Amino acid sequence: MAHQSLPPEQIAQAFRILSSEMPGRVPGAMGPKRQPNPFRSCISCMLSAQSRDANTATATKALFRLARTPRTMLNLSEEDVKTAIKPCGLYNLKAKNIHNFCHALLDDFDGVVPNTRTELMQLPGIGRKCADIVLQFAFAIDTIAVDTHVHRVCNRTGIARGTTAEKTAAALEKTAPSWAFREGHFWLIQFGKKVCLARAPKCATCPLQHLCQKRAEETASGTSLSKKRTSGKAEPSSAN
Ligand code: SF4
Repeated sequence: MAHQSLPPEQIAQAFRILSSEMPGRVPGAMGPKRQPNPFRSCISCMLSAQSRDANTATATKALFRLARTPRTMLNLSEEDVKTAIKPCGLYNLKAKNIHNFCHALLDDFDGVVPNTRTELMQLPGIGRKCADIVLQFAFAIDTIAVDTHVHRVCNRTGIARGTTAEKTAAALEKTAPSWAFREGHFWLIQFGKKVCLARAPKCATCPLQHLCQKRAEETASGTSLSKKRTSGKAEPSSAN
């Protein structure tokens, strides 16, 4: 398995191809992540863990009908919060995270959501992915948030390498060309959902196949991801 990422000119070429093949930052692609209010963006992101976009949007709307600020949210009963956010699942844990997040936001930042990754990640419930989403969608600071799709595509192709989404995000920050930061998040997610699927990637028709490190390894060894899937040999989780 290749452990080095692609050379810079090939990474730029991969992003150029993705930019022409994928829709990018269109309104329909943004879903519940498009939150201009930083507080709402943080809450929406916390609610999105292991939840479909539609359910996250329903839960966020229901919760913000009850309270719109950290202080008023802390005045809600635990049961009210859980009932409002139930559609997005894991509501016990998420209600606790919201409570802790609101407390820390009031205690440490006077109730104002900070606009740096380091400060955002000091808040309970906010990891690197949420911090990057809030930076991009609420503060218009271009950055490529890495979710499971982006992590998988980056590691398979060699655009960036990391054993966790957080490490891939750190690597991607160094390898991606600056012009790709505004829309790269969308291109990579869309590509991961439409072409480089987790279980059955469409390698034969993939526009990145001539650059992809995974494809090169498989060609050299005479195996294929789809064959491995059907024979039950799963890929390491870092590349999923
Ligand atoms: S060639 Fe296959 S593994 Fe590589 S990026 Fe394309 S779909 Fe993904």
